[in-house]
Amino acid sequence: MKQILNFIGGELVPPVAGKFLDNPEPAYGKITSQVPDSTSEDVERAVSAAKKAFPGWSSTPVEERARILNKLADLIRRDLEEFAMAESRDTGKTLSLARKLDIPRSESNFRFFASAITQFHGDSFQSDQTALNYTEYSPLGVVACISPWNLPLYLLSWKLAPALAAGNTVVAKPSEITPMTAFLLSQKAKEAGLPAGVLNIVHGSGPNVGEPLVNHPDVKAVSFTGSTMTGRKIAQQTASSFKKISLEMGGKNANIIFGDADFSKALDTTVRSRFTNQGQICLCGSRIFVERSIYDKFRDELVKKTKALKIGDPIEASTDTGALVSKVHWEKVRACVDTAKNQGGRILCGGNIPKFGSQLDSGYYLEPTLIEGLDHLSSTNQEEIFGPVATLIPFDSEDEVIAMANSTRYGLSASVWTQDVKRAHRVARKLESGLVWVNTWMMRDLRTPFGGVKESGVGREGGMDALRFFSETKNICVALT
Ligand code: NAD
Repeated sequence: MKQILNFIGGELVPPVAGKFLDNPEPAYGKITSQVPDSTSEDVERAVSAAKKAFPGWSSTPVEERARILNKLADLIRRDLEEFAMAESRDTGKTLSLARKLDIPRSESNFRFFASAITQFHGDSFQSDQTALNYTEYSPLGVVACISPWNLPLYLLSWKLAPALAAGNTVVAKPSEITPMTAFLLSQKAKEAGLPAGVLNIVHGSGPNVGEPLVNHPDVKAVSFTGSTMTGRKIAQQTASSFKKISLEMGGKNANIIFGDADFSKALDTTVRSRFTNQGQICLCGSRIFVERSIYDKFRDELVKKTKALKIGDPIEASTDTGALVSKVHWEKVRACVDTAKNQGGRILCGGNIPKFGSQLDSGYYLEPTLIEGLDHLSSTNQEEIFGPVATLIPFDSEDEVIAMANSTRYGLSASVWTQDVKRAHRVARKLESGLVWVNTWMMRDLRTPFGGVKESGVGREGGMDALRFFSETKNICVALT
């Protein structure tokens, strides 16, 4: 049984209390590793190591910080196969996706911020002839990076890279459900020459590790990605101390297809945007709105393509759809399908647990599922399911679809499919969403701001926004007269 260790003060160490949690592999439902069940004592040690490392790291020249982050990126590239296999086995996602998306993107995150920090600069403002104002950015100190299970290394590196580049020291808490690639990263951080205590990784549950970390008086900022429920708790816990927070939370994203859209591109991308990673990407379009003039044709073609997705062992090259991340999550998603049926939803395809006649039968699989016939205000169309389940909803007018798309408490991302350029801009502007894609999905430029509105997010990640979040801004005003 493989035992994962914490990374504190540059050393791989077991949790102080010596307790571990079982970590099952979702593809086979089998326990093959154990993750530290750390406590506030481990958090205390990690924060203290990070605090000790801060003066050295924050005064390390930017070029040297960038060199070490690039070295870490080199090691991720060198060991891509090891990372991809670990990510696939830990999450149930296909190995091909981990190879193509998760791991290369983690490498890019480190490279991007290694470069971005060398371009990060303050402003200066001349106030008539009387004064000169200029801004200075300085690192915050010890910061917490808390990440979820759906894109474990990708989303963790999206926080670590800007936090470290900006000169902060970090205590990271990866999801206890998917600790494996963070564990690998801690080994590579050592090899890359990251000084002891600059990056600390404490594994364990939200209540036992996340909460004490968020509440720790020496933690100056919390960058969190996860559910809206946990984000809300973090906002409440940090309110009285006025800690800086960045919250990336849940979504119920609209995918809007007008009658004049490029039909086959919209169709192929809809399959991808709904079922990649078993629908467990925060940006997945879970509500598919289709203009009535093409509704029947689009629905029938979508059902055909969805049925053709091959569900199976995530390691196999021919597999399109792997396993859901955990038994608890699998049961939650299946309960959502039952709720949809009870609400009068018609299952167009999927909804069943596939039978393989192999060890996969103990894994957490669910056929990709499409549902129609539900009101846009039903809980199925309002609450995040975060699995391979989507609903189809017809619409008759632009105003109607905008109102339906905006009817949820979430506002992370949306896609609009139309060849009418004026309509594309008009609709994009009216959607209550932090990200809008027109005739595409999940096309990312790391310089652009990333984040949600309403209950999907507070603040923005990406590019200079992330570096600003992990920095304190000071304005210095010098009188010239
Ligand atoms: P989660 O909120 O359960 O957990 C996220 C992280 O927070 C985990 O590391 C967890 O251990 C930790 N945590 C739990 N309770 C905590 C507490 N009280 N204090 C501090 N930390 C705590 O989310 P999840 O189930 O891991 O991830 C799925 C959710 O993440 C979905 O809602 C999805 O939409 C969202 N997500 C959002 C984005 C985005 O960019 N907006 C990206 C990916 C995932």
